[in-house]
Amino acid sequence: MLPTASRPKSASLRIAVIGAGVIGLATALELRTRGADVVVYDAGMDLGAGASIRSAGMLGAAFEWAVEEDQRSLAALARHAGMIWPDFAARVERMAGGGIEFSPEGALVVARTPAEVEWAEGIAAACQARGLPVKRMTAPEMKRLEPTLADGLHGGMLLPEDRQVDASLVLQRLGAALSRQGVGVRLGRKIDRIVGGASFQMPDGDRFNRVVLATGAGTLPEFVGPRGAQLPHGLPACVPVKGQMLALVSAIGGPRHVIHTRDVYIAPKARWTLVGATAERGRQDLEIDRKAIEDLRRRGAAVAPMIATAAELTAWAGIRPGTPDDAPMIGQTAIPGVFAALGHFRNGVLLAPATAELVAEQAIDGKVSPLASAFDPLRFDKDGD
Ligand SMILES: Cc1cc2nc3c(=O)[nH]c(=O)nc-3n(C[C@H](O)[C@H](O)[C@H](O)COP(=O)(O)OP(=O)(O)OC[C@H]3O[C@@H](n4cnc5c(N)ncnc54)[C@H](O)[C@@H]3O)c2cc1C
Repeated sequence: MLPTASRPKSASLRIAVIGAGVIGLATALELRTRGADVVVYDAGMDLGAGASIRSAGMLGAAFEWAVEEDQRSLAALARHAGMIWPDFAARVERMAGGGIEFSPEGALVVARTPAEVEWAEGIAAACQARGLPVKRMTAPEMKRLEPTLADGLHGGMLLPEDRQVDASLVLQRLGAALSRQGVGVRLGRKIDRIVGGASFQMPDGDRFNRVVLATGAGTLPEFVGPRGAQLPHGLPACVPVKGQMLALVSAIGGPRHVIHTRDVYIAPKARWTLVGATAERGRQDLEIDRKAIEDLRRRGAAVAPMIATAAELTAWAGIRPGTPDDAPMIGQTAIPGVFAALGHFRNGVLLAPATAELVAEQAIDGKVSPLASAFDPLRFDKDGD
């Protein structure tokens, strides 16, 4: 059992979630479903105005992790998240009364050159070694499945369990589901300071038994005791990783599947086709670099030629919330009763329902699931001892 500030029954447990991105909203819904009284605070005026609304909404449970040899715990968490996503999607859609474009089509991984065949083969082998379903395909087989692909490709595979959603719809529907469940979402409230003690007091005076930090790449509030002394939470600073993305008009007969190559992906949605993304470590600005955007288009066109001429709708940048070891921080911080749901880097949409479960288990029941133990937010603190 975890040391916690106090242990009221979940029905009388008041929990503040700081951050209305996909992680904070999914966690708030899970906490509410388990009986807690929940309020969400966010600095922005819209839901998910940080990284979440700028994401491609891919649920890459296999592709993202197959090649990450040193991230086995994260691969297991991603797999679990991939498995619970269909139920989560159905639950959110039912609770909100609207869809999120959950697409079960699977993702294609394409080799454009003989050199990339080896890279693709590495992914297929790693997926198989981890028990993830993978269907190797020749270039003609891929073209039959996805006619928008270029000629002259060198084959690849279908990852049937890598799905996608429209991230902005997920945010909208989570907001609607929370509202129907009586969860208040207080927008335009940046939380700079929380006063701890027998309970946690927000700047608006409201008090809570627990706090969940889901601030993404934003600024963590400072915690102080009743007499003003600092309460260290033990969390490292976020490692920001900027990502730029191109959104094109979705044409009839356009791509149906998520398509990955080694250096670009295409994620088709009903309202646009996304081509992404750059990965610029340490950058926190939201500026668009036209050359980077044109590079994305050129790479995308090499695998799906219609990308070359599709009209541009918009382009944007978002900041992925990274950590020193690129794995999330999920669990109790150095302050009893304060929990982290942070550092989801390039997979926050995929991991949201799994993180929500793990945080709720800890914050309400005081249990740390074996899946969560690798993501102890205090692991960096321990390294420094
Ligand atoms: C270009 C791009 C493409 C991506 N594609 C994918 C993808 O296909 N699949 C995937 O799974 N992931 C993807 N990601 C990653 C994903 O977007 C993030 O991992 C995820 O959105 C993180 O969610 P979050 O809720 O932690 O953070 P955010 O969405 O950033 O939310 C944090 C919220 O906290 C609020 N906040 C911060 N500080 C405070 C404070 N002190 N007080 C009050 N509020 C505060 C912010 O206003 C913000 O709304 C992508 C990211 C980018 C940039």
